[in-house]
Amino acid sequence: MMMRALLLAATLGTAVSAAPVLDTPVKDSWWADGRAALDARLKVVNRPKRAKNIILMVGDGMGISTITAARIFDGQRPIDGRTPAAGEENNLAWDKMTNTALVKTYNTNAQVADSAGTASAFNTGVKTRIGVLNFGADQGPEACKTPEKLPRKLAEIARAQGMGLGIVTTTRITHATPAAVYGHAPSRNWEGADRGYPAADRASGCPDLASQLVAFKGGFDVALGGGGARFLPAGKGGNRDDGRNLVEEWLKAWPQGKFVADAKGLRALGNRDAGPVLGLFNADHISFEHDRKDDAEPGLREMARFALARLQDSAKTRGGKGYYLMIEGGRIDHAHHASNPYRALNEAQIFSATVADVLKSVNLDDTLVLVTADHSHVLTIAGYPQRGNDILGYIKPVRGGESDGALSKEGWALDDRGQPMTTLSYANGAFVSPGLSRLLPPTEPNYLANKTHGTDSESHGGEDVALFAEGPRADLVRGVMEQNVIFHIMAEALGWR
Ligand SMILES: [Zn+2]
Repeated sequence: MMMRALLLAATLGTAVSAAPVLDTPVKDSWWADGRAALDARLKVVNRPKRAKNIILMVGDGMGISTITAARIFDGQRPIDGRTPAAGEENNLAWDKMTNTALVKTYNTNAQVADSAGTASAFNTGVKTRIGVLNFGADQGPEACKTPEKLPRKLAEIARAQGMGLGIVTTTRITHATPAAVYGHAPSRNWEGADRGYPAADRASGCPDLASQLVAFKGGFDVALGGGGARFLPAGKGGNRDDGRNLVEEWLKAWPQGKFVADAKGLRALGNRDAGPVLGLFNADHISFEHDRKDDAEPGLREMARFALARLQDSAKTRGGKGYYLMIEGGRIDHAHHASNPYRALNEAQIFSATVADVLKSVNLDDTLVLVTADHSHVLTIAGYPQRGNDILGYIKPVRGGESDGALSKEGWALDDRGQPMTTLSYANGAFVSPGLSRLLPPTEPNYLANKTHGTDSESHGGEDVALFAEGPRADLVRGVMEQNVIFHIMAEALGWR
């Protein structure tokens, strides 16, 4: 090598010098932090290539603009006793993961995707239509009669291999993202035996999603979320019109299983493996973090910690076999649909804290951790607010920059109607009543951000989402990829061929 370099230098007539010693005359943290980030990347190259465990973490509707806004929000309104910062320089848990890709989210028949088609892609390796769960793009309800011809799910292959299985979500456990782990349905709305699954459609013979969770071959070690009403008969705490009590059916199928319906019940179970656990903590979705009562419903962090501890402990009874755990921060999406940036960013902040907890609790030499979103939302971060400006607040612009328009007496940038503008707004969403959003200060948790187009609900966004990864074969997470490739990366990491 050296000889060749010398020869080359001689040919070119230049002198060879040793590698330069890098230093900077600027003594600030940017240089040292930059070197530390490089060192973290150098470490990744040496990871083993086989994963025992896979943890797929989905921030529902957590597009890249949501990530940026949540990063600033988390810096400005920190949890876990941290000191508030300007925000922009803050890091969310995945900002320090060293492998990143952009993911194309479109469904086979839709430019802008929904959670069902997208979750199908990463659970089966096959893209499908909007609103459809784990059916091929050309398969209709008649395919329920030939279930062996439906796309195979990562969870069912993992179970057949003797791996552990866990699902954690803040939505109904029959909602699109968690249902794609265990179920198949030509319509994501067929969650239970209720109005969402009309009698005419039931003639298809397709089982509702709640009943599919209970009937899942080999069962789950842990399934925690909301949606209890889909499991219980009408008049008995549920809304099933077929009289079935799926909680009783589940307990009959798993005599050692424990069913819990509140945070107290979950806490009483402890972290040691003692058979499967089904936890349904709300009839509907689990409350937003901002509204949740801690003694009634466990939060995402507590559910994820419980599921992970159980799956790690139960490895003994599986002869050391690993697990597949899907964790969904499911309500970022719901707050966005309601045009409510505070709750959306707060949910994303809790999702980040959950990712940080997970990264601390696993061995990244045998566990592949993937963090992504199923699709984006139409949130934008706009104007030229100063560093440290409240991410929820009105825009206080940098003077002499791009924006030298009119200012209010408070120093807020004014729009062409003389109204102050917020940094965050939505491209569409319900106007509710004209001007309602201006009745509250924008930093108020219940403030609804401005919309450009009035629609009944703010919509998903169609641009790519991010995928972050750490652990064995995280190096495959790079470039721009189709969403179904995520399945194939997980399969490769597990050594499936
Ligand atoms: Zn949505």
